[in-house]
Amino acid sequence: MQVLEAVGATYDPYPPRRERAAELGARYAFASQVLGFYGRLTEVQARAFVAAREWKPAPADLPQFVAGRVLPEVVDVTTAAGPRPLVDAAVACFSTADLPAMVRAWLEGAAQPPVEAYLARAATQPVLEALGYAPAPALPGQGAGRTCPRCGGLPQLSYFALSGEALVSGPRYLVCARCSHGWVFSRMTCAACGEQEAARLPIYQEGDVLPHVRVDACDRCRHYLLTVDLRKDPRAVPVVDELAALPLDLYARERGMTKITVNLLGN
Ligand SMILES: [Zn+2]
Ligand SMILES: [Zn+2]
Repeated sequence: MQVLEAVGATYDPYPPRRERAAELGARYAFASQVLGFYGRLTEVQARAFVAAREWKPAPADLPQFVAGRVLPEVVDVTTAAGPRPLVDAAVACFSTADLPAMVRAWLEGAAQPPVEAYLARAATQPVLEALGYAPAPALPGQGAGRTCPRCGGLPQLSYFALSGEALVSGPRYLVCARCSHGWVFSRMTCAACGEQEAARLPIYQEGDVLPHVRVDACDRCRHYLLTVDLRKDPRAVPVVDELAALPLDLYARERGMTKITVNLLGN
Protein backbone atom coordinates (compact mmCIF):
# COMPACT_ATOMS: atom_id res chain seq x y z
CA MET A 1 0.00 0.00 0.00
CA GLN A 2 1.34 3.33 -0.99
CA VAL A 3 1.34 5.89 1.77
CA LEU A 4 1.27 9.48 0.57
CA GLU A 5 1.14 11.09 3.99
CA ALA A 6 4.29 12.59 5.40
CA VAL A 7 4.85 10.17 8.24
CA GLY A 8 7.99 9.44 10.21
CA ALA A 9 11.29 11.27 10.27
CA THR A 10 12.80 9.13 7.53
CA TYR A 11 9.92 9.38 5.05
CA ASP A 12 11.18 10.72 1.73
CA PRO A 13 8.73 10.84 -1.20
CA TYR A 14 11.29 11.86 -3.79
CA PRO A 15 13.20 8.66 -4.70
CA PRO A 16 10.01 6.85 -5.82
CA ARG A 17 8.90 9.93 -7.78
CA ARG A 18 12.25 10.17 -9.54
CA GLU A 19 12.26 6.45 -10.37
CA ARG A 20 8.70 6.57 -11.68
CA ALA A 21 9.49 9.62 -13.82
CA ALA A 22 12.40 7.74 -15.42
CA GLU A 23 10.25 4.65 -15.98
CA LEU A 24 7.35 6.54 -17.58
CA GLY A 25 9.68 8.79 -19.55
CA ALA A 26 11.11 5.68 -21.20
CA ARG A 27 7.64 4.21 -21.77
CA TYR A 28 5.87 7.28 -23.17
CA ALA A 29 7.66 9.23 -25.89
CA PHE A 30 5.02 11.99 -25.64
CA ALA A 31 5.99 12.61 -22.00
CA SER A 32 9.75 12.01 -22.09
CA GLN A 33 10.68 15.72 -22.15
CA VAL A 34 8.27 16.71 -19.41
CA LEU A 35 9.32 13.83 -17.20
CA GLY A 36 13.03 14.28 -17.90
CA PHE A 37 12.76 17.85 -16.66
CA TYR A 38 10.60 16.82 -13.71
CA GLY A 39 13.20 14.20 -12.75
CA ARG A 40 15.87 16.88 -12.58
CA LEU A 41 13.57 19.17 -10.60
CA THR A 42 12.94 16.46 -8.01
CA GLU A 43 16.66 16.52 -7.12
CA VAL A 44 16.28 20.15 -6.05
CA GLN A 45 12.96 19.47 -4.36
CA ALA A 46 14.41 16.54 -2.42
CA ARG A 47 17.14 18.80 -1.02
CA ALA A 48 14.53 21.42 -0.10
CA PHE A 49 12.49 18.72 1.65
CA VAL A 50 15.50 17.71 3.78
CA ALA A 51 16.47 21.32 4.52
CA ALA A 52 12.93 22.17 5.62
CA ARG A 53 12.94 19.22 8.00
CA GLU A 54 16.25 20.28 9.43
CA TRP A 55 15.51 24.00 9.79
CA LYS A 56 11.78 23.85 10.49
CA PRO A 57 11.05 27.45 9.46
CA ALA A 58 8.12 29.04 11.28
CA PRO A 59 5.10 29.91 9.11
CA ALA A 60 6.00 33.62 9.12
CA ASP A 61 9.53 32.82 7.89
CA LEU A 62 8.49 30.53 5.03
CA PRO A 63 8.64 33.07 2.17
CA GLN A 64 12.15 34.17 3.18
CA PHE A 65 13.32 30.59 3.68
CA VAL A 66 11.99 29.45 0.30
CA ALA A 67 13.23 32.53 -1.57
CA GLY A 68 16.69 32.34 -0.06
CA ARG A 69 17.38 28.62 0.08
CA VAL A 70 15.30 26.92 -2.59
CA LEU A 71 14.37 29.32 -5.37
CA PRO A 72 17.93 29.87 -6.67
CA GLU A 73 18.33 26.13 -7.19
CA VAL A 74 14.94 25.87 -8.89
CA VAL A 75 15.98 28.60 -11.31
CA ASP A 76 19.33 26.86 -11.93
CA VAL A 77 17.76 23.52 -12.80
CA THR A 78 15.07 25.19 -14.89
CA THR A 79 17.74 27.04 -16.83
CA ALA A 80 19.71 23.84 -17.34
CA ALA A 81 16.89 21.47 -18.23
CA GLY A 82 13.63 23.36 -18.74
CA PRO A 83 11.77 24.12 -21.96
CA ARG A 84 13.04 27.25 -23.72
CA PRO A 85 10.11 29.65 -23.07
CA LEU A 86 10.15 28.75 -19.38
CA VAL A 87 13.92 29.29 -19.19
CA ASP A 88 13.71 32.84 -20.53
CA ALA A 89 10.74 33.75 -18.34
CA ALA A 90 12.32 32.21 -15.22
CA VAL A 91 15.60 34.09 -15.64
CA ALA A 92 13.80 37.40 -16.18
CA CYS A 93 11.53 36.79 -13.22
CA PHE A 94 14.36 35.76 -10.86
CA SER A 95 16.35 38.90 -11.59
CA THR A 96 13.47 41.35 -11.20
CA ALA A 97 10.78 39.96 -8.90
CA ASP A 98 10.43 40.44 -5.15
CA LEU A 99 10.96 36.75 -4.44
CA PRO A 100 9.59 36.48 -0.87
CA ALA A 101 6.50 38.41 -2.00
CA MET A 102 6.13 36.04 -4.94
CA VAL A 103 6.20 33.02 -2.58
CA ARG A 104 3.79 34.72 -0.20
CA ALA A 105 1.35 35.38 -3.04
CA TRP A 106 1.46 31.73 -4.04
CA LEU A 107 0.85 30.60 -0.46
CA GLU A 108 -2.18 32.86 -0.32
CA GLY A 109 -3.58 31.48 -3.56
CA ALA A 110 -3.34 34.84 -5.36
CA ALA A 111 -3.49 35.06 -9.15
CA GLN A 112 0.05 35.14 -10.58
CA PRO A 113 1.73 35.06 -13.98
CA PRO A 114 2.38 31.39 -14.89
CA VAL A 115 6.15 31.65 -14.50
CA GLU A 116 5.85 33.10 -10.99
CA ALA A 117 3.35 30.43 -10.01
CA TYR A 118 5.66 27.74 -11.38
CA LEU A 119 8.77 29.02 -9.56
CA ALA A 120 6.96 29.61 -6.27
CA ARG A 121 5.20 26.29 -6.43
CA ALA A 122 8.26 24.21 -7.38
CA ALA A 123 10.23 25.76 -4.51
CA THR A 124 7.53 25.87 -1.82
CA GLN A 125 5.71 22.58 -2.30
CA PRO A 126 8.51 20.34 -0.92
CA VAL A 127 8.87 22.65 2.08
CA LEU A 128 5.15 22.43 2.89
CA GLU A 129 5.22 18.69 2.36
CA ALA A 130 8.12 18.32 4.79
CA LEU A 131 6.64 20.58 7.45
CA GLY A 132 3.15 19.13 7.27
CA TYR A 133 1.42 22.49 7.44
CA ALA A 134 0.52 25.31 5.14
CA PRO A 135 -0.06 28.80 6.53
CA ALA A 136 -2.81 29.82 4.18
CA PRO A 137 -6.52 30.46 4.52
CA ALA A 138 -9.16 28.28 2.90
CA LEU A 139 -10.18 29.52 -0.51
CA PRO A 140 -13.63 31.13 -0.53
CA GLY A 141 -16.61 29.37 -2.05
CA GLN A 142 -15.33 25.85 -1.54
CA GLY A 143 -16.48 23.20 0.85
CA ALA A 144 -17.75 19.68 1.49
CA GLY A 145 -14.31 18.13 1.34
CA ARG A 146 -13.44 19.69 -2.00
CA THR A 147 -10.53 21.66 -0.56
CA CYS A 148 -7.55 20.41 1.41
CA PRO A 149 -8.39 19.96 5.10
CA ARG A 150 -4.84 20.95 5.95
CA CYS A 151 -4.36 24.15 3.96
CA GLY A 152 -7.51 24.94 1.98
CA GLY A 153 -5.80 24.31 -1.37
CA LEU A 154 -7.55 22.89 -4.43
CA PRO A 155 -7.03 19.29 -5.57
CA GLN A 156 -4.41 18.50 -8.21
CA LEU A 157 -5.62 14.99 -8.90
CA SER A 158 -7.45 12.05 -7.45
CA TYR A 159 -6.44 8.44 -7.12
CA PHE A 160 -7.94 5.11 -6.23
CA ALA A 161 -5.85 3.40 -3.57
CA LEU A 162 -5.24 -0.29 -3.24
CA SER A 163 -7.59 -1.78 -0.70
CA GLY A 164 -5.48 -4.71 0.46
CA GLU A 165 -8.52 -6.97 0.10
CA ALA A 166 -9.37 -8.45 -3.28
CA LEU A 167 -13.14 -7.91 -3.12
CA VAL A 168 -13.16 -4.50 -1.51
CA SER A 169 -12.71 -1.34 -3.57
CA GLY A 170 -10.02 0.99 -2.30
CA PRO A 171 -10.98 4.51 -1.27
CA ARG A 172 -10.68 7.51 -3.56
CA TYR A 173 -8.35 10.28 -2.46
CA LEU A 174 -7.83 13.86 -3.60
CA VAL A 175 -4.28 15.26 -3.44
CA CYS A 176 -3.69 18.93 -2.63
CA ALA A 177 -1.99 21.01 -5.32
CA ARG A 178 -0.46 23.24 -2.66
CA CYS A 179 0.83 21.02 0.17
CA SER A 180 0.51 17.48 -1.32
CA HIS A 181 -1.73 16.29 1.51
CA GLY A 182 -4.20 13.56 0.53
CA TRP A 183 -7.75 13.10 1.84
CA VAL A 184 -10.58 10.67 1.25
CA PHE A 185 -13.29 11.90 -1.13
CA SER A 186 -16.55 10.52 -2.48
CA ARG A 187 -16.11 8.31 -5.55
CA MET A 188 -18.85 9.82 -7.73
CA THR A 189 -18.77 13.53 -6.96
CA CYS A 190 -17.30 16.43 -8.94
CA ALA A 191 -14.28 17.69 -6.99
CA ALA A 192 -14.90 21.22 -8.31
CA CYS A 193 -18.65 21.86 -7.77
CA GLY A 194 -19.96 18.85 -5.84
CA GLU A 195 -22.26 17.51 -8.61
CA GLN A 196 -23.35 13.94 -7.83
CA GLU A 197 -25.63 13.07 -10.73
CA ALA A 198 -23.79 10.27 -12.53
CA ALA A 199 -25.16 11.28 -15.95
CA ARG A 200 -23.39 14.63 -15.59
CA LEU A 201 -20.03 13.13 -14.62
CA PRO A 202 -18.50 11.70 -17.81
CA ILE A 203 -15.33 9.65 -17.60
CA TYR A 204 -12.85 9.59 -20.48
CA GLN A 205 -10.18 6.96 -20.87
CA GLU A 206 -7.46 6.09 -23.33
CA GLY A 207 -7.42 2.39 -22.58
CA ASP A 208 -4.57 1.28 -24.82
CA VAL A 209 -1.98 3.85 -23.82
CA LEU A 210 -2.90 4.89 -20.30
CA PRO A 211 -5.19 2.19 -18.92
CA HIS A 212 -4.66 3.28 -15.30
CA VAL A 213 -5.41 7.00 -15.72
CA ARG A 214 -8.73 8.62 -16.62
CA VAL A 215 -10.40 12.00 -16.92
CA ASP A 216 -13.13 12.66 -14.35
CA ALA A 217 -15.13 15.49 -15.89
CA CYS A 218 -18.27 17.40 -14.98
CA ASP A 219 -20.88 18.67 -17.44
CA ARG A 220 -22.31 21.06 -14.86
CA CYS A 221 -19.21 23.18 -14.14
CA ARG A 222 -17.05 22.01 -17.09
CA HIS A 223 -14.08 21.22 -14.86
CA TYR A 224 -12.06 18.02 -14.77
CA LEU A 225 -9.17 16.35 -13.03
CA LEU A 226 -7.18 13.21 -13.73
CA THR A 227 -7.62 10.10 -11.62
CA VAL A 228 -4.86 7.52 -11.25
CA ASP A 229 -6.00 3.98 -10.46
CA LEU A 230 -3.45 2.12 -8.35
CA ARG A 231 -5.60 -0.99 -8.60
CA LYS A 232 -4.77 -1.12 -12.30
CA ASP A 233 -1.10 -0.21 -11.84
CA PRO A 234 0.18 -0.66 -8.29
CA ARG A 235 3.53 0.86 -9.31
CA ALA A 236 1.94 4.21 -10.17
CA VAL A 237 2.99 7.30 -8.23
CA PRO A 238 -0.06 9.54 -8.67
CA VAL A 239 1.70 12.91 -8.82
CA VAL A 240 4.10 11.58 -11.50
CA ASP A 241 1.58 9.61 -13.53
CA GLU A 242 -0.62 12.70 -13.62
CA LEU A 243 2.22 14.68 -15.23
CA ALA A 244 2.70 11.91 -17.80
CA ALA A 245 -0.92 11.74 -18.95
CA LEU A 246 -0.62 14.54 -21.52
CA PRO A 247 -2.98 12.96 -24.10
CA LEU A 248 -5.80 12.98 -21.53
CA ASP A 249 -5.29 16.67 -20.77
CA LEU A 250 -5.37 17.39 -24.49
CA TYR A 251 -8.53 15.34 -24.92
CA ALA A 252 -10.33 17.12 -22.07
CA ARG A 253 -9.27 20.56 -23.26
CA GLU A 254 -10.44 19.84 -26.77
CA ARG A 255 -13.86 19.24 -25.24
CA GLY A 256 -13.83 22.63 -23.58
CA MET A 257 -13.05 21.35 -20.09
CA THR A 258 -10.82 23.27 -17.66
CA LYS A 259 -8.60 21.44 -15.19
CA ILE A 260 -9.38 22.25 -11.57
CA THR A 261 -5.69 23.03 -11.04
CA VAL A 262 -2.99 22.92 -13.71
CA ASN A 263 -0.08 20.77 -12.59
CA LEU A 264 3.42 21.94 -11.73
CA LEU A 265 4.50 21.87 -15.35
CA GLY A 266 1.50 23.85 -16.58
CA ASN A 267 -0.67 21.05 -18.03
ZN1 LIG B 1 -3.06 21.34 1.23
ZN1 LIG C 1 -18.58 20.18 -11.42
